Amino acid sequence: MKVPECFASDTEMLSTMLLESLGRRSEIKNQIREFLLDCEDITDEVEQYFLKKVVGLKFEAEINSLDRTIRTTTILIGKNKNMINLEDWEYKVERAKDADIGRVIAHYLNPNNLKKRILCPFHDGKNKHMQIYSQTNSYHCFSCGASGDVIKFVMDYEKCEFKQAINILQNF
Ligand SMILES: [Zn+2]
Repeated sequence: MKVPECFASDTEMLSTMLLESLGRRSEIKNQIREFLLDCEDITDEVEQYFLKKVVGLKFEAEINSLDRTIRTTTILIGKNKNMINLEDWEYKVERAKDADIGRVIAHYLNPNNLKKRILCPFHDGKNKHMQIYSQTNSYHCFSCGASGDVIKFVMDYEKCEFKQAINILQNF
C-alpha cells in the first residue's frame, strides 16, 4: 500500500523532531558527564555532593521532556510504518561519539602532528591555532573559538545535519 503524501511529510517532520531530541539528549548527557568528571577534582565531599545535586536538578526537567518527545514521536512514526529503530539509532550515536577525533581530523586535514596545534579549517590564517584533545575527543581553536566534539567537527566541516554526521562517523 502506498503511503499518502500527507502522512509521508508528517513522518519526515516527526523523524526530524526525533533526531533533534536524541541529539539534544546526547548533548546534555555529555555535559553532565564532563561536569561530573570536573567534580572528581574537588576534594571537599560536601561541595561535590551539592554540585552533583545542582547539575541533576538543572537538567532533569529537560531530559524528562525530551524523553517524552522521543517516546511519542517514536510511537507516531511507528504507526506510519516508517519506524526508525531507536536502539539502532542510539547505538549509532554512541559509536559516532566514540570515533577517534585524531583519525577523523587526519582524514579531513592530513596534519603532520596531531599532538601539536594544527591549521584550523574554520577560519583563514597561516598560523596553527587548533588543538586536538585526544583524552576528551574534542578540539578547540584558540583564534576563532571553534570547538566541540567529534560530531560537531564533522557537522561544521561537512556543513551537514546531525543525522548525516552520525552516519559519516560510522565509517571511522
Ligand atoms: Zn579557527
